[in-house]
Amino acid sequence: MSQIYVLDAGVLFSSWTSKIPEGKFVTTSSVLEEIKNRPSQVRAEVLTLLDRLQEDFPTPESLKAVRLAAAKTGDLSVLSDVDIEIIALAYSKKSIDSKTTLVSTDLAILNTARHLGIHVIDPNRKFKHEIVWALKCPACKHKSRYRTTNLECPVCGTIMRRFVHKKHKSH
Ligand SMILES: [Zn+2]
Repeated sequence: MSQIYVLDAGVLFSSWTSKIPEGKFVTTSSVLEEIKNRPSQVRAEVLTLLDRLQEDFPTPESLKAVRLAAAKTGDLSVLSDVDIEIIALAYSKKSIDSKTTLVSTDLAILNTARHLGIHVIDPNRKFKHEIVWALKCPACKHKSRYRTTNLECPVCGTIMRRFVHKKHKSH
């Protein structure tokens, strides 16, 4: 079975795919929509013609699992629906083929995917650590678990900010 690479828009904008002579690339329809009218559209079309790039869809269960994982890591507030779909597609693929790799340059995408046990590649090599975010009040320094709603500090009412709560090597 050949390796499956799930690609986000950032990777299709780059020339990363030209370095991978074998394997199947998959992406979501929303990513293909995003790269329309961009130079990378030609690359995506060529890969599709060569039967190497396929459009696919995440399962509803995997979308749910991704939202849950992103809420836990603290990445949910910075992930778009397109981002969540691409992680969910990798998660769907992983359940039927363990040789699935998610390729992305987006650190929140990579972080959430790693927490779901998905193998990841960052072509920019900036993703070094898995992170769990928490909240800290810039005024009174109160800390709390990460949440997406009600970011007000329970002590003084200031809007709390994300900070790195836990960090460990991603590989
Ligand atoms: Zn406070």
